[in-house]
Amino acid sequence: MADVLVFVDHVDGVVRKPTLELLTIARRLGDPVAVLLGAGSGARQAAGVLGEHGAVRVLVAEAEEFGQYLVVPKVDALQAAVGVVGEPAAVLVASSGEGKEIAARLALRLGSGLITDAVDVQASEEGPVATQSVFAAAFTTTSRVTSGVPVITVKPNSAPVEQAAAAGTVEELSVSFGELATGTKVVARTPRQSTGRPELTEAAIVVSGGRGVGGAENFPLIEALADALGAAVGASRAAVDAGWYPHSNQVGQTGKTVSPQLYIANGISGAIQHRAGMQTSKTIVAVNKDPEAPIFDLVDYGVVGDLFQVLPQLTDDITTR
Ligand code: FAD
Repeated sequence: MADVLVFVDHVDGVVRKPTLELLTIARRLGDPVAVLLGAGSGARQAAGVLGEHGAVRVLVAEAEEFGQYLVVPKVDALQAAVGVVGEPAAVLVASSGEGKEIAARLALRLGSGLITDAVDVQASEEGPVATQSVFAAAFTTTSRVTSGVPVITVKPNSAPVEQAAAAGTVEELSVSFGELATGTKVVARTPRQSTGRPELTEAAIVVSGGRGVGGAENFPLIEALADALGAAVGASRAAVDAGWYPHSNQVGQTGKTVSPQLYIANGISGAIQHRAGMQTSKTIVAVNKDPEAPIFDLVDYGVVGDLFQVLPQLTDDITTR
């Protein structure tokens, strides 16, 4: 079977969930080979988890450049990994801002094709076939890279995390950095204040609030339901523009794209620009007092009602169960 490179996204050796999902996809396409980069020796501890999720080999490179500089050193390393395995069946990268930049630069260097924001990738005789949701989710397309090594970024929550024991043999990856690698330096990092909730784009459940929430002072209703479900909080642009919730939580065309197992839209009408960011959610629930609200065309379960009555009851019911 051909090798499939998986770029590992981790924080101090703790592998992030989207990488484990990529390993599930990689196993459909061939033998997963994980590329693990770190600025210190902490990264190495991730190798065990990668093996438990199907990585046949783990190529490890440690260098200060990975922590000090922006994405180019990581592209240098991925390119070196492509050289080590020969002609991989694909290179899979999680669809974060950084992931997409790395993937685009790599595809350019390899002279191959790039597919971004795939929501599914399946094997075919001609090579991996990726499904994307495009034009504000108005169309679903399937596409395939027709020349060179396919470089594909995959949205979080596009595949389940599955344990699959594999060798996970650790091998050193030697990387020589090009001149560009040290061109832009990170001068400061300011950690975002943690809310204790999951990252919006990675969360399995997202509870969102829109203009119907009526004000910042009412968003604790959304947060309470989110906390009862272990969910992330999202918001429509109307709620964000009104200053009720931070822009980093906006879901939609000009916000973040989420694809959770469960999306609960509260007081959100379902404008096309909002749909663009959540339409690929597996199960969609809406609470809206207007039975004609367009969001109801999209939902699996709809509650026609006042969110100020529905949400406290729902939260109460979940927490007392
Ligand atoms: P509204 O459309 O005002 O809907 C509020 C809903 O709440 C209504 O359906 C109402 O029935 C319901 N409601 C009111 N009170 C209650 C209650 N007590 N209980 C239950 N339901 C109640 N929007 C985004 O969300 N994300 C984006 O990224 C985004 N990008 C955009 C980009 C562009 C270029 C443009 C032009 C627009 C964009 N928009 C985006 C804005 C989008 O068009 C809508 O204006 C926005 O999504 C509306 O937000 P909303 O559903 O919260 O508000």
